[in-house]
Amino acid sequence: MTAGEYLEAIRQLPLGSLHDLTQESPFLVLSPHPDDETLGAGGLIAAACAEGQRANVVVVTDGSGSHPRSRRFLRQQLIALRHAEVAAAGFLLGLADDRVTHLGLPDTKAPSSGAAFDAAVVTITETCREAGAKSLFVTWDLDPHCDHEATARMAYAVRRRMPELRLWAYPIWGWHLESSLPLDRAPPRGFRLDIACQQDIKRAAIAAHISQMTDLIDDDPEGFCFTEATLAPFLGSFEYFIEVAA
Ligand SMILES: [Zn+2]
Repeated sequence: MTAGEYLEAIRQLPLGSLHDLTQESPFLVLSPHPDDETLGAGGLIAAACAEGQRANVVVVTDGSGSHPRSRRFLRQQLIALRHAEVAAAGFLLGLADDRVTHLGLPDTKAPSSGAAFDAAVVTITETCREAGAKSLFVTWDLDPHCDHEATARMAYAVRRRMPELRLWAYPIWGWHLESSLPLDRAPPRGFRLDIACQQDIKRAAIAAHISQMTDLIDDDPEGFCFTEATLAPFLGSFEYFIEVAA
């Protein structure tokens, strides 16, 4: 199967309800960077919060890698800004501040093994247990970004500790894989969630990540900013969740 065929199969996943995805129980969204949670699962979070369902978010890295050469936003200021952006986006989605945990690992250096990896897995597992989470949502393991790959590995490790947890993957950078790339994967199973009712809230929450969406930080020529093309997969009226088999 090519990446193009796989991504098309994701777009054709059957319509699912909030119940199909979360069993109307608490869940946790694991986000490699401060914005992936909004981009990939903002509609899910907003729909669940509107129903009074408990959602938790764990952000793995500190987001300090987006504008490493800015002189106006030094590392600690950028980290603080990105925390504030997650809080602002979460507020719009209906997520209380105390439902967001930042692991604060260094951007582009999320560990895939070793002591820091194990510590992250322990914290995520404890957060899941404390919340009574029955489902865990994480970025897709085939997202071509080292932090996204590491975060997916953390989710798998959490599920090994909590085998009852249902695991779902949401693509971010995977949407932009070269379509001819061969993927050694069986066709995806899972659901697409209709978020038409949450679309406006989600767009506002995405816009709250100002440092990633605008030229607010304009003194780093290599600084990151979403474009119309890179943002497009996240502005539609569906979100897509691939079930990760145990
Ligand atoms: Zn990311």
